[in-house]
Amino acid sequence: MKVLIAEDDVHMLNLLSIMVQSFGHDVFTADNGREAWELYQNHHFPLIVSDWLMPEISGVDLCRKIRKSQKLNYTYIILVSSLSGRKNYLEGMDAGADDFVGKPVDKDELHARIRVAERIINLQMRLEEMTQTDGLTNLANRRRFDEALNEEWRRARRTETPVSLIMIDIDFFKHFNDNYGHLEGDICLKKVSAVLAKTGNRPGDLVARFGGEEFVVLLSGAASDAAQMLAERLRSAVSNLKVKHEYSETADHVTISLGIASVIPGHEQNNPQVLISLADTALYQAKKNGRNQAILFKE
Ligand code: GH3
Ligand code: MG
Ligand code: MG
Ligand code: MG
Repeated sequence: MKVLIAEDDVHMLNLLSIMVQSFGHDVFTADNGREAWELYQNHHFPLIVSDWLMPEISGVDLCRKIRKSQKLNYTYIILVSSLSGRKNYLEGMDAGADDFVGKPVDKDELHARIRVAERIINLQMRLEEMTQTDGLTNLANRRRFDEALNEEWRRARRTETPVSLIMIDIDFFKHFNDNYGHLEGDICLKKVSAVLAKTGNRPGDLVARFGGEEFVVLLSGAASDAAQMLAERLRSAVSNLKVKHEYSETADHVTISLGIASVIPGHEQNNPQVLISLADTALYQAKKNGRNQAILFKE
């Protein structure tokens, strides 16, 4: 994993780097607290090993700043110091350090403590993934989608490029459930999700379960023509699954309707929710026009 080592003593920095590298990690270095803080802000390091006494921003200050920052991913911090005694240990932990190693650093001890760090970091990553994944379909869930939409919206506003959204709804799914039962309904949702994920997961795009039998695809940096092409591919991929649906009024198998909206964020459009609302309007049109089709929102 990526490990950032912050230490103002060049000799010690070298020594720590060689040790941590020999444990099989990718080492990044900072020779003072300020540089470490700047690196932290622009990159994600699951683990930081930091010296305590450094000029300007000390190791404890670094801990406090990191714990105060609103970054999504957790960073595990091991403080390294020759300051010994219970008071310093407590101060470091209170500042937000996860562990404390005394100088001179014993290689085996550091290795053991980094293995502990890895266990915690892996648990944290699994937890993170679970809170962002829909349990039934394994797609990204609504929470993840909302975060991605906000982030994508901000990016598009900076670069003045479009954000496109495809809103998807299974046709006559209530009839499917009522006639084949909810368990079959769930199996159908999984099949549809799998094919949406396979067809729609271009790097940077996000396929998510919006809720119930509704899905969304968020396209990064794509204009309406690209979104329309993808929507048509999604429609035909789901139709080609040929999941039997004798109670659909559209076909003898499961189909989807899709609404597409494409917006360049700006002064008039300054809320990402408009994208959802426009795609929703287009989806409603697709339903009205006979379902099993994709419609692009037009003013
Ligand atoms: P339309 O073509 O207009 O979309 O008709 P519809 O029947 O699909 O629309 P409606 O919104 O009335 O029905 C959605 C159904 O989806 C109702 C609900 O029971 C079902 N549903 C939602 N979530 C789940 C789920 O997690 N599992 C199952 N099996 N069914 C679900
Ligand atoms: Mg120092
Ligand atoms: Mg629906
Ligand atoms: Mg439906």
